[in-house]
Amino acid sequence: MQSRNTYSYPIEKKLIKKIATTESPAHRRYFSEQHKAWYDLTNAVDFLCDAGTPILAACDGEVVAIVDGLTKNHNKREPPSRAVMPEEEQDGNYVVIKHSNEELTIHSHLQPGSIVVKKGSKVKTRDKLGLSGNTGWSLVPHLHFMVFKFTKKQARDFESLEIKFS
Ligand SMILES: [Zn+2]
Repeated sequence: MQSRNTYSYPIEKKLIKKIATTESPAHRRYFSEQHKAWYDLTNAVDFLCDAGTPILAACDGEVVAIVDGLTKNHNKREPPSRAVMPEEEQDGNYVVIKHSNEELTIHSHLQPGSIVVKKGSKVKTRDKLGLSGNTGWSLVPHLHFMVFKFTKKQARDFESLEIKFS
């Protein structure tokens, strides 16, 4: 399914080294043992860029979740076992924004301590959120960016949406 909202790129175009969609082993559909829910990441997009690149809001919205302070990196292609990295640390440091039409965006693997918004912050398109990094399950510094939607009430199942970029 395609997003209803239109999103701008979450990084200045000139700072993007490569845009990758299908190469990442993380961009899959899988059952989360931790949350007992189906997670679909098949439409996620990786923006390869230097660590420390400003990450921008891609559409107006409200910050609904933040994780900061994680420093671990797991750079194997296969999914990290829970013993190596708990599932909740796979995205590294991240910001989730809720937009109109029940669509959400996640910006993952950010540099620890770089996030400049707070939960509840209202953001406008192109507002700075933080800096790119390599935390969590990440082979090289990049921004994992995904537009997604929860698919069930009272459950955490979600599906990623094909992103309509401006
Ligand atoms: Zn990714």
